[in-house]
Formats: sequence, structure tokens, C-alpha cells
Amino acid sequence: MATIFTRIVQGEIPCYKIAEDDSYFAFLDINPLAKGHTLVIPKKENDYILKMEDADLSGLILFAKKIGLAIEKVVPCKRIGLTVIGLEVPHTHIHLIPINAISDMEFSRPKLKLTNEELAEICERIKSEL
Ligand code: AMP
Repeated sequence: MATIFTRIVQGEIPCYKIAEDDSYFAFLDINPLAKGHTLVIPKKENDYILKMEDADLSGLILFAKKIGLAIEKVVPCKRIGLTVIGLEVPHTHIHLIPINAISDMEFSRPKLKLTNEELAEICERIKSEL
């Protein structure tokens, strides 16, 4: 069965899409730790980043770099934190999170409650920096 992220890529489930190319896709995390929290995924399903083919993994990192630099232009922060967890969704994804302190990467913290309008607005602003 397709993962929820594959269903997002295929347009079956809505998302706030930031960018895509033939191999990779970026969209806002629906339960963000910070405004601009974005997920970057390979379109090819693989549940564990360390099992990706080298070339696919390199491409994923380069795609994430481009997206992270765009987020940085929009969201005031010290830097963009990158992390991979993958305990919830078995489809490799890199979290890109604007951070000012180590605690901003703490996933057990309560998530932000952003409105659809706020998510749409941040999505458009990040896209405009690509
Ligand atoms: P993890 O697998 O532990 O890295 O966490 C999965 C992440 O995917 C969480 O931060 C969720 O908020 C996010 N997520 C799950 N479903 C969706 C969705 N439909 N759209 C956007 N983000 C999602």
C-alpha cells in the first residue's frame, strides 16, 4: 500500500507544496514545530534513509539544501535545523526546521497551531524565494 507521503505526491491527499522535481518533493509539515517547518522526501518509497542508494540520497540532500536556503530567507532564525526521525511515517523524509536554540528541535514539545491561511501564506513566501 502506498505511504501517506506517496499519496500526497500523487495529489490524493492535499498538502502545502513548496516544490518538486522528477525525484523529490517538499511540503509543509502539518504539525509544525516552527513556522516554515518543511518535509523533504524522495518520490521513490524507502522507509529508511540509510538504505537509500547513494545517488538518491545525495540528490535528496541537495534538494533539501535548496529548500532550506529559501526557508531561511523567509523565517527569521539562526539557521535551519535538519533532522531525520521517521518513526511515524515509513517514507524517508528530512525535517527542515527554523531554529534559534537546540530546544527548537525537541519533537516532544507541543506543536504550533497554525491556521490554513497562515500555512498557505508561509508556503507561498517560501516558494517565492526558490
Ligand atoms: P516522523 O516520521 O517521526 O519523522 O514524523 C512524521 C512527520 O510527518 C510529523 O512531523 C507529522 O506532523 C508529519 N505529517 C504526517 N502526516 C502529514 C501530512 N498529511 N501532511 C504533512 N505532514 C504530515
